[in-house]
Amino acid sequence: MPLTNDQHRGGSPREVTVHVPDELALAPLARSLVATLPRPAFVALHGDLGAGKTTFVKAIASAAGIDPAMVVSPTFGLIHEHHGTDVTILHADMYRLIGPDDLHEIGWHDALARATWAFVEWPERIADALPTDRLDVTISIDSPTARSIRLASHGSRHHATVASLGG
Ligand code: ADP
Ligand code: MG
Repeated sequence: MPLTNDQHRGGSPREVTVHVPDELALAPLARSLVATLPRPAFVALHGDLGAGKTTFVKAIASAAGIDPAMVVSPTFGLIHEHHGTDVTILHADMYRLIGPDDLHEIGWHDALARATWAFVEWPERIADALPTDRLDVTISIDSPTARSIRLASHGSRHHATVASLGG
C-alpha cells in the first residue's frame, strides 16, 4: 500500500499497523517496543472498552520484567506506577476524569516527571494536556481474539519505534 504524503512528511514513515491474531502475539510486539521506545516516552492508548488497552500495558510490563498481574485498570483518581529493573512505567486511565483540575489532584505532573514511560488509557479526556511528542496506539477489535494495533508517531522522537516495526 503506498504511503500517503502525510506519512512521508519529515522524511520517514510515521505509522504502522500490526495484526495480532491472539493475546500471545502481544509478547513479541511488546518486546520490540520495550527495546525501541525512547526514554522518556508517552504512549496514548485509544480504543473501545474491552479493546485491549490494559492488556497491552500488561504485555509491555511483562517484557520489561514487571509482573503483569500488577497491571490492573487504574480506577478514578488513581495512577499506577510500576518499577522494573531499569524502567518506571506510569499507567493511567482517564476515563472518569472530569476536568483538567483533576490532573493536579491525582499528582499527574509529578508522576509523569518520574516515569520512564507513560501509558494513558482514554487520552481524549486530557486532550489539552497531551504532549505533542507522543506515540498514539489505537487498538481495534477484529475478532474475539484478534486485534489490529495501529502505532502512529507524533513528533520525531517516536519515529524510530514505528520504523522498527516496519512502518
Ligand atoms: P481495555 O483496557 O481496552 O478496556 P482490557 O485490556 O481490559 O481492555 O480487556 C481486553 C479483553 O480482551 C481482555 O479480556 C483480554 O483477555 C481480551 N483479549 C482477547 N484477545 C486479545 C488480544 N489479542 N489483545 C488484547 N486483549 C485481548
Ligand atoms: Mg483498560
